[in-house]
Amino acid sequence: MTCFLDVPAMSRLVQDVGVSRLLGELADTIRHDFVRWQDFEKCARLTSQSRTGVHELMPVASDDHYAFKYVNCHPENTTSGLFSVMGMGVLADAKTGYPLLLCELTLATALRTSAMSLVAARALARPGARRMALIGNGAQSDFQAVAFHSLFGIDEISVFDVDPSATDKLMRNLSDYRALKIIRADSISQAVRGADIVTTVTANMAHAHVLTPAMIEPGMHINAVGGDCTGKTELHADVLRGARVFVEFEPQTRMEGEIQQLPDDFAVVDLWRVLAGTEAGRQSAEQLTVFDSVGFALEDYSTLRYFHALAAKRCAGVEVELVPRPDDSKDLFRYTRPADVRPTLYRIG
Ligand code: NAD
Repeated sequence: MTCFLDVPAMSRLVQDVGVSRLLGELADTIRHDFVRWQDFEKCARLTSQSRTGVHELMPVASDDHYAFKYVNCHPENTTSGLFSVMGMGVLADAKTGYPLLLCELTLATALRTSAMSLVAARALARPGARRMALIGNGAQSDFQAVAFHSLFGIDEISVFDVDPSATDKLMRNLSDYRALKIIRADSISQAVRGADIVTTVTANMAHAHVLTPAMIEPGMHINAVGGDCTGKTELHADVLRGARVFVEFEPQTRMEGEIQQLPDDFAVVDLWRVLAGTEAGRQSAEQLTVFDSVGFALEDYSTLRYFHALAAKRCAGVEVELVPRPDDSKDLFRYTRPADVRPTLYRIG
């Protein structure tokens, strides 16, 4: 039987564990898998661009599991009340190929993306960083704010969005975090002034210049999350030229990340090597570091692996019959006869 975690089941799990604790556990799981990078069969995701957005299929495999995620980004969706980004995914047993988990990955993608940003910032940002700017206050932004406040030590966040109602929503959602000071900025320049970390998480199918060289201060760490497919970037190319740039899976980031604006020989550093201790991260307090986040399949593998274990521990989700039960594994045809189709068994969590 396959465990099925839909949105209500995922939401209950997140509430039971608590957002901050869950983000910390997820960050540890992702970091653990990045350090054993060589154990995975990897490829750049398969993308299909439409007039209004992009569809992506993200597979990855180890000796134990095979996983994939379907995800999209359609920035115009929010004008008709739909999410820009949604996803779903599967974790399968590598020994038999049987699906172990079928999972919503819209909420889980926001959790894993902020957990990944946290993993990168812990390795790259200046020690003692306290102030963050958060540009783009949509669906992903709250998760980024909570991860950096609860688990990194950020105690002041300047927020800006071209849509004031998105900032209203973010400030409302963060009002429970009493120790976090939130400053509403009037512009991107004002938001980033004096920030130790700048997170950009905007959605535009364009080469946008959310951050320009004039806004950059020595020693900043830029967590560039929103530029994540071909034709969609957030940083002026000169910001990258002045920085040490870190990537998840270079062949994919060359096509989808901020560095798609630069020649193929522009030097980047694999984040996994920094985490494994074989490459330097930040080299000085004044250096500008950029995490060119695009979202890599291994992060979703870690997420599916984490939620599969958590669901088993907390009896969450339902068990569904996604594959016929093997009374006689040579006789699939019996499922064409109504009498042989037995009702699905559910374990309600
Ligand atoms: P969203 O549509 O909910 O929010 C995006 C926000 O950006 C909107 O509120 C919009 O008004 C704002 N915005 C657009 N242009 C802006 C600008 N120039 N300045 C300030 N604000 C601006 O989208 P979301 O779900 O929050 O996703 C945000 C981005 O993150 C998307 O581009 C998505 O593809 C990307 N993303 C990346 C990863 C990753 O792993 N790197 C994962 C998930 C999502």
